[in-house]
Amino acid sequence: MDTPPFSELGLPDTLLAAIETLGYERPSPIQAMSIPPALLGKDLVGLSATGSGKTAAFTLPALAKLDVRQGHPQVLILCPTRELAVQVCEEVHRLGAKMPGLHATPVYGGAPIDRQLRALRSGAQLVVGTPGRLLDHLRRGSFDPSRIQMAILDEADRMLDMGFKDEMDELLAALPAGRQTLFFSATMNPGVSRLIQKFGNSPEIVEIQQKARTVSTVDQSYFEVRQRSKVEVLSRILDMNPPRLGIIFCNTKRSVDECTEDLVNRGYAADRLHGDITQQMRERVLKRFRDGAVEILVATDVAARGLDIDEIDIVFNYDLPTDPEDYVHRIGRTGRAGRSGRAVSFVYGREIYRMQSIERYTRSVVRRERIPSVEQVEGRRADLIFDDLKERLESGKFDAYQDNIDRLLEQGHTPTDIAGALVTMIREASGREGSAIEEDREPERPARRENRDARPPRDDRGPRPDYQDRPDRSERPGPPRGGFQAADGGMTRLFLSLGKTHGVMAKEIVGMLYREAGLPDGCLGRITLFPKHSLVDVPEQFVGQVIDRTRTARLRGRPFRMDVDRGPQERP
Ligand code: AMP
Repeated sequence: MDTPPFSELGLPDTLLAAIETLGYERPSPIQAMSIPPALLGKDLVGLSATGSGKTAAFTLPALAKLDVRQGHPQVLILCPTRELAVQVCEEVHRLGAKMPGLHATPVYGGAPIDRQLRALRSGAQLVVGTPGRLLDHLRRGSFDPSRIQMAILDEADRMLDMGFKDEMDELLAALPAGRQTLFFSATMNPGVSRLIQKFGNSPEIVEIQQKARTVSTVDQSYFEVRQRSKVEVLSRILDMNPPRLGIIFCNTKRSVDECTEDLVNRGYAADRLHGDITQQMRERVLKRFRDGAVEILVATDVAARGLDIDEIDIVFNYDLPTDPEDYVHRIGRTGRAGRSGRAVSFVYGREIYRMQSIERYTRSVVRRERIPSVEQVEGRRADLIFDDLKERLESGKFDAYQDNIDRLLEQGHTPTDIAGALVTMIREASGREGSAIEEDREPERPARRENRDARPPRDDRGPRPDYQDRPDRSERPGPPRGGFQAADGGMTRLFLSLGKTHGVMAKEIVGMLYREAGLPDGCLGRITLFPKHSLVDVPEQFVGQVIDRTRTARLRGRPFRMDVDRGPQERP
């Protein structure tokens, strides 16, 4: 669904600035449809599944209405579980990051009540809580409902399923009659209708219609992969089957920037498109993509709109889209004009439920795949080299180098050894240094539930994937499970006196460091290349070892200096 930009929804600048920082490029359908009427003060019933962006759909209007100068509860958000209350409160803080004086607090059962009492007494304006504990505070007098202007019921159907009917009734009855109420629910059922009838004021109903779409010509699969290992897995998949052209879809501009940078550092011909790219630049990137000079385009949904290229053989959902329709649009970029196409999605933890919604929406089964091992990738790369070699031999298009080869033969090297050494050199020259992938316990694939949007069981929601799970930049690539672990997780940034202008590539720095400094597999963090220098994140405990052992090492035949980075001022 095409949605208008956030700036057209009537939101104040402070919130638009926070949205910009988060990198949300455009509203999801539930956001586009709920925010304007909610800002007008209307009651609302939002029928939308988990993962559709509904938290921001109610949080944004709530924050727009809130007066940070008033130190009393103004907005109440009811959630079924403690986890959800915490997650919603985190989203409130993210979206309210540019609102100094904002005070939001989660209130839930199973946690000491004192801290909650203090937070409520110290002027919380927005309270997010589970019905039982909130009622407790209401009865104790620690939660003052008298000046609540907006009440939001998140997952109303689930709260009723969990037996919170009486608590909800009592809480809602205690709120001022003139307040605005927003009901969000994945399903409409008699219990939810009763609540709306009793506590709503002619609400507007916003329903995200999910038209079933099929995408039968595209081979769809997904990999379970953590945020921090995405680039490594992406590289392995690309190396296993190098595409002619591929598109990688990300949900935010920031994700596009990071992914592109990582791919370029790893030596791929990648470029990016997102809303901040000028029209002129966009055209240049697209031309290079069409010509094949750029093989991998990293883009947001909006930026890829109107892109009409038939030869795309693979599409990645680097971040799973919030709107299943976007999934259909994204993967529809491949498998065109009678060609075969492949769509690969990265999913982690609770995102599996979003993947299930997508399967239902597209009425197709998305196959789970195993991440190829480094050995498989190496084997495949060798196969590809031998395929090329065979083609070259058969075509006869190569130079003889007779004298040089004769000389090697005279020195006692066998033809097999010479050929083997040559292939190794080609592989090293074209190869990318793989890093370890942090493998976690694999999340169980939940049983399918018919007639309901897929949702995790009660009290079982993990952290949100996109921002909360976003690792610190220096964490990537992560250490392997059971293998290396940084002593306290601390990384130190090292300065290396060679950079892009010296022709250095990230993979060469990685190779040199593992080889020369004898570091354990997978321990290196982020590597950033600048024209004249590079920065490398190394676990604290290996800093001395790295500096000592690389003193006489060379990169691209050049000596270099490696030291703890002392910041931009001290760099040459
Ligand atoms: P929710 O349905 O509220 O659980 O949101 C699902 C995920 O989508 C969360 O990780 C949000 O941070 C993310 N999200 C929400 N709105 C947007 C948007 N407009 N663009 C990109 N990501 C979003």
